[in-house]
Amino acid sequence: MVELKLANGVDIPQLGMGTWQINDRDNLLEIIKTGYGLGYSLIDTAAAYSNEMAIGKVLEKLGIPREKLFLSDKVWNTNRGFEAVQEACRRSLKKLKTDYLDLYLIHWPASPKLHDDWKKINAETWRGMEKLYQDGLVRAIGVCNFKIHHLEALFKTSKIIPMVNQLELHPGMPQLDIVSFCHAHDICVEASSPLGNGEILTNEKLIALSHAKGKTVAQICLRYGVEKGLILIPKTKNIKRLQENREIYDFSLSPQEISMIDNLPYCGGIGIDSDEVTEFG
Ligand code: NDP
Repeated sequence: MVELKLANGVDIPQLGMGTWQINDRDNLLEIIKTGYGLGYSLIDTAAAYSNEMAIGKVLEKLGIPREKLFLSDKVWNTNRGFEAVQEACRRSLKKLKTDYLDLYLIHWPASPKLHDDWKKINAETWRGMEKLYQDGLVRAIGVCNFKIHHLEALFKTSKIIPMVNQLELHPGMPQLDIVSFCHAHDICVEASSPLGNGEILTNEKLIALSHAKGKTVAQICLRYGVEKGLILIPKTKNIKRLQENREIYDFSLSPQEISMIDNLPYCGGIGIDSDEVTEFG
């Protein structure tokens, strides 16, 4: 699996498995077992997905050596703050049956619309993330859904620059400004919903391009992320698609094709504005 390097030297697989809306009622064991067999080692979860315990049980059952996995988790909005984030991380570690995470992320910034003191809340939460990193409980720390103004505010107090910003990013939502900003600050961008939660897959221009390339629309979307130097975490419950989503390194997109995709009309798969997000998402 191709790897990217985070600012602190930690290698992160470019392609991982998203797990939102997958739980122990689904074929989680088969998904992780097959995915791992195909070379996926990055598993992206979050406290809010309510599947950490199920993932922990599956990993224990499969007996995959811990160092072969890249486990990524997120602290939820109700656990912001210096102490709360550290307690939340320890709870997540217990559920995942591990003593460290490879990447820990703040799921959403405190939003200026709901919190007058949003800068202070984010700064304190980040201080807790830095402590977890210094204590060796997490190998890398980052944020999700942070816009430029959230990051600029954070930089004023942070000792460590976030190593990752996970953002909804896909054709129809290319987020060009924030990607350039992050890359200029050595922050890796991880595309959540790289398939637009499935919504972009019926776009006519992408279908035409997929025919021209002899690839599926999903593969075009994921290759677009590769061309942009992103980390990608598509989610599928379909075992066959795990293989399909992996076959993205045997073709490329031309600058013209990338530009066409950059300019597709807005299509937000999830489309939550992080300046409006509530405690519940
Ligand atoms: P994706 O953009 O990955 O799309 C998932 C949808 O596409 C599902 O309906 C899936 O169906 C379908 N799909 C997957 N592969 C294919 C394929 N090859 N062909 C056709 N359809 C396909 O959606 P998510 O929103 O789940 O995002 C991915 C991950 O990003 C999440 O699981 C989560 O880990 C993370 N995330 C993080 C967020 C954040 O705030 N930090 C927000 C949202 C997501 P099927 O399962 O049937 O294959």
